[in-house]
Amino acid sequence: MPLFLFNTLTRKTEEFRPMDPSGRTVTMYCCGPTVYDSAHIGNFRAFVSQDLLRRRLEAHGWEVRHVMNITDVEDKIIRAIHASGEPLETFTRRHEKAFLDDFDALGCRRPAVMPRATEHIAEILALVKRLEDRGAAYATPDGSVYFSIERFPGYGKLSRLDRAQLKPGARVNADEHAREAYGDFALWKAWSARDGVVAWESPWGRGRPGWHIECSCMSMKHLGETLDLHCGGEDLVFPHHEDEIAQSEAATGRPFVRFWVHNAHLLVNGQKMSKSAGNFFTARDLFARGYTGRELRYVLLSAHYRLPLNFTLEGLDAARQALARLDAWEARLGAAAGAAALPAPGGALWKEFGAALDDDLNISAALGALFEALRASNRSLDEGQTTAAEAARALSDWLAVREALGLPAPPLAEAPSDVEALARERQTARAVKDWKRSDALRAEIAKRGWAVKDATDGFRLTRQP
Ligand SMILES: [Zn+2]
Repeated sequence: MPLFLFNTLTRKTEEFRPMDPSGRTVTMYCCGPTVYDSAHIGNFRAFVSQDLLRRRLEAHGWEVRHVMNITDVEDKIIRAIHASGEPLETFTRRHEKAFLDDFDALGCRRPAVMPRATEHIAEILALVKRLEDRGAAYATPDGSVYFSIERFPGYGKLSRLDRAQLKPGARVNADEHAREAYGDFALWKAWSARDGVVAWESPWGRGRPGWHIECSCMSMKHLGETLDLHCGGEDLVFPHHEDEIAQSEAATGRPFVRFWVHNAHLLVNGQKMSKSAGNFFTARDLFARGYTGRELRYVLLSAHYRLPLNFTLEGLDAARQALARLDAWEARLGAAAGAAALPAPGGALWKEFGAALDDDLNISAALGALFEALRASNRSLDEGQTTAAEAARALSDWLAVREALGLPAPPLAEAPSDVEALARERQTARAVKDWKRSDALRAEIAKRGWAVKDATDGFRLTRQP
């Protein structure tokens, strides 16, 4: 079953296949965080959607070369280190670590490469030089370099920008006074007193890179001149992604990206999230309120990525309940499957769920299929109609679905010490292949309301519904 994705570039849903001639590897670039503050849940909506896409690509058997940049030099960062007095690297590494802790807590698979802008200054300068040599960029007397959108006829093709609208009148940044034409953007920003010690030498004098060039440079360095997929929030379409296309294609003369995948924004209580409106949440704010990364991930996944997601705390509570139902079902299936071997996933649930995700990641239909299967299965379990083989089949499908959703295993239940002692005893019995004793202990544990399952690192106890 082919995978279909909506491509912002063509505004069409198209079949996705990697361009790799061997058909094995997919290249995927995602705009990463600017590390100066705790990332908010709107940021994480993008990363969770991208993780869902990556997992679907992997389910198709492709190896995903996933790159996400770390923006560690930028206006907001420079302002923040002036306020804190910390060196740039100390400040950005601290925020990068916090970001990755949240990223992990949300169950996102780590990208293969997470390049930092400050570690690619030489490559960025080489790309700026290449653009200048090709006549697509010009230096200004103050030592900045700008991209000339006049010299790139394709400018505006992603955002469907009417170039006639790009005319003077709107606010022009103080540091961009030297531009030749409205819409031209900085590739290299000449040093100004505001930058303090944050500066690098360049052929045009001391300065620092612009934000847009960073993504063109690092995506092409790590993934090649043409990428299969480039992802980001819809707010990045213009100007960031439009500028990335201009820089990359003007430099290489080749198409930069085959599929542009953008996720819609997130609202909180029906409104745009803002600190002043008091509806601003970072992931850590929610963890501090006792919610888990698993629960937040479920909420962030639950709406189709191209539709706005309205986040509420009630929604998070509903996610907790939905997960509890799924965890209880998993435990029930585990108990009913007993010693039956798990087949490879491939039952009706896995097929329907996969078909829904292959339709431009239609999560609503996918979750619909999941809860439909859960209800039918629970009914059959209630009636004692489920054989061990059927339970094993359902469990195998569910575990594959859980993996596709990126939901970690149910949290380790805090079993009472007597139950845990029985589970340990059972582990010892299994180690000496005393299966009879092992089964008796399992039954005893079940009698006390718990299910025990073997895991690579020992055993797992889950509460029985
Ligand atoms: Zn970017």
